[in-house]
Amino acid sequence: MNIATPPRTTADAFRDDILRHLTYEIGTDPSHAQVQDWRLALSFAVRDRIVDSWFAATRKTYEAGAKRVYYLSMEFLIGRLLEDGIVNLRLLDEARGALSQLGVDFDTVLSDEPDAALGNGGLGRLAACFLESLSTLGCPAYGYGIRYEHGLFRQSFEGGRQMEAPETWLLQRHAWEFERPEASYPIGFGGSVETKGGTTVWTPSECVFAEAFDTPIVGWQGRWANTLRLWSAKAANPFDLSSFNRGAFAEAAQPEALARTISRVLYPDDTTEQGKELRLKQEFFLTAAALRDILRRFDSEHDDLGKLPAKVAIQLNDTHPAIAGPELVRILHDERGMSFEDAMATATACLSYTNHTLLPEALESWGEGLFGRLLPRHLQIVDRIDSAHAKANPSRSLSVRADHQVKMGELSFVMAHKVNGVSALHTGLMKETVFEELHRLHPDRIVNQTNGVTPRRWLLSCNPRLSGLITETIGEGWVDDLERLKELEPSIEDAGWRQRYADAKRGNKADLAAWMAEAHGLTVDPDAMFDVQIKRLHEYKRQHLNILEAIALWQEIKDAPSGNHVPRVKIFAGKAAPGYFFAKDIIRLINDVAQVINADAATRDFFQVVFLPNYNVTLAERLIPAADLSEQISTAGKEASGTGNMKFALNGALTIGTLDGANVEIREHVGAENFFLFGMTADEVVARRKVENHAAQAIAADPRLKRALDAIKDGLFSPDEPDRYVHIVENLSGPDYFLVSSDFTDYWRASREVDAAYADAETWTRKAALNTARSGWFSSDRTIRGYMSDIWNAESLLTG
Ligand SMILES: *Cc1c(COP(=O)(O)O)cnc(C)c1O
Repeated sequence: MNIATPPRTTADAFRDDILRHLTYEIGTDPSHAQVQDWRLALSFAVRDRIVDSWFAATRKTYEAGAKRVYYLSMEFLIGRLLEDGIVNLRLLDEARGALSQLGVDFDTVLSDEPDAALGNGGLGRLAACFLESLSTLGCPAYGYGIRYEHGLFRQSFEGGRQMEAPETWLLQRHAWEFERPEASYPIGFGGSVETKGGTTVWTPSECVFAEAFDTPIVGWQGRWANTLRLWSAKAANPFDLSSFNRGAFAEAAQPEALARTISRVLYPDDTTEQGKELRLKQEFFLTAAALRDILRRFDSEHDDLGKLPAKVAIQLNDTHPAIAGPELVRILHDERGMSFEDAMATATACLSYTNHTLLPEALESWGEGLFGRLLPRHLQIVDRIDSAHAKANPSRSLSVRADHQVKMGELSFVMAHKVNGVSALHTGLMKETVFEELHRLHPDRIVNQTNGVTPRRWLLSCNPRLSGLITETIGEGWVDDLERLKELEPSIEDAGWRQRYADAKRGNKADLAAWMAEAHGLTVDPDAMFDVQIKRLHEYKRQHLNILEAIALWQEIKDAPSGNHVPRVKIFAGKAAPGYFFAKDIIRLINDVAQVINADAATRDFFQVVFLPNYNVTLAERLIPAADLSEQISTAGKEASGTGNMKFALNGALTIGTLDGANVEIREHVGAENFFLFGMTADEVVARRKVENHAAQAIAADPRLKRALDAIKDGLFSPDEPDRYVHIVENLSGPDYFLVSSDFTDYWRASREVDAAYADAETWTRKAALNTARSGWFSSDRTIRGYMSDIWNAESLLTG
């Protein structure tokens, strides 16, 4: 059984389809159509073709009675979908040609699409890459998430400070989704629990409806498409007519407003526990709706619940959907009459859990008061799960329930047949730290699946210059077999080929420079080194280490302005959680430093600092192909994996980085000589923290560091408010938990090695090209194959 590649469409046919949609779907005449109208019409024409593979894939899954994978995630950072769809359907020339026939600029239409930011950062972007890889690999799968009305906030700067505004991606018609009013489930909260005649019944006191919206996610070459199903909350009784009739209009609309709150906003932080009732409601809302849907689909094909683990694999992306354990047990036991033991075993055989962090503040736990009030039956079930596990494993000393808390990490572990970390280092640390005890009890449960990124979006589509050169050199087989990039290595020995590689990078840098001038009024030299750190703002990611180095470098250039300096532009982008004041102060500091440095005529030719606002997937796609240097400088032991690091290496940026997360594996793959390593190891970090006055010692030993900190403390970058950043300096000279001061000296050393390497363009290009050639392992196709074989026991339905 082979699903044929969809027939190629000519530009003419495509043009006709666009016009048909413009006329009958948008209701607009070509002479009056605005960019948005063209964008929607083009999207619908592309979507038609995706729908064909989507239906074929669904039919095939039913026919085969295949196992399905369900990926539950509170975040899907999917970004724009139009270009992705066009590229995967290989319709780029046709779409461009059709629009050009219609006198419409293709790139203007593409950039009109809002960036769907239904996630904070790496965790949500991983989920999006996984969906695309699942489709590319033809593995039947659904992504389940929440259709947030407002995704992550839009960031701007005012006087260097982060301003937050709601993101409005849904204000205009969303081209990719299909509303499914028929897939709607009541989700209860609160209420009471009664046991009658041996069965326990939960009667919730509050109810909202979860309504499905489906977005097809198409894989490479359009051979398969899976579904991203996002839930939107609706009131069970949308409107209180009696209040309305009394004239109490606001009161009448209240049920609707309250219900909708659940799917209104994405929590803008994934690294601190949200002690918020709304957050727990969101988590249960997503999970309960997904489980209802999964079981409805299962019931339509099978009548023996014992088959559930053979047909259903449910992956929990972090602990956010961890309530799936107790909820599935509740359904199987309370509603379907399975014994508690069987229900627990069945649920565990279906569920698996991905851990994303070892940061203690990011491990979710809920007070039993709140938990029991919102989910009274689930609290009872958690207690039973806990005692069943304790009975089976009497030696253990820890518990899912402790200190009047429900600990979601432990709950996920106990209810999963496999638990995975996201890089080799992280998985090792999981076994030694957070899950030490549970790992000893279940030594086969923890497995590693190092993260990956989809090469379709993160090379083929975002970097046409480089992907064109690659395809010309080795053919296009690399697109879904990324390790074939290795076949580039012989060409790297050819000086002419290297020049073409360098030209591609230079072209990308010129494009970025032109865009920065147009969009932000910034002037940067495309021949300078583009040194890029783009990621969420967090102390563990250490943007402040980077800006300290920037200050020290500027001071050094100022001391000898006629010296032989390597021109460099430091580019930052990233959002801070609105309540994370220290991170917001780091943003402001970077902006203040940028203002002073960029205004300095003596150093301007050598050094500039830029902070671009509103980091999102689209900005990443613009910046990464143009980067020379990738900053991956987190405190060792803190970054679970990172995926930004992989995107950069693939696009030929060299990494300056610590031995943290997947940096370790990137360095192994690209070769130590093509990676700028610095800093303490995870073990050394632990030891260093025990040294008294470690920060003060580091500062006393490095005059450059002291001088940079003094400049901040003296108000050089905040003359109108000299004390503005004293607290940052005090932190870095005192507790300095993330060891910025202790790693500074080695970071400076490695940065100067970077300068020396960049000054030798031939050598640099060779190293960059080797990064591309050797990064193929970091494809999310490889990661998903690992999940399919080691965790899900799921199979591809594509042949040939
Ligand atoms: C890849 C990506 C991330 C993750 O970056 P890290 O450097 O791994 O933290 C976050 N946000 C966006 C928009 C991304 O594309």
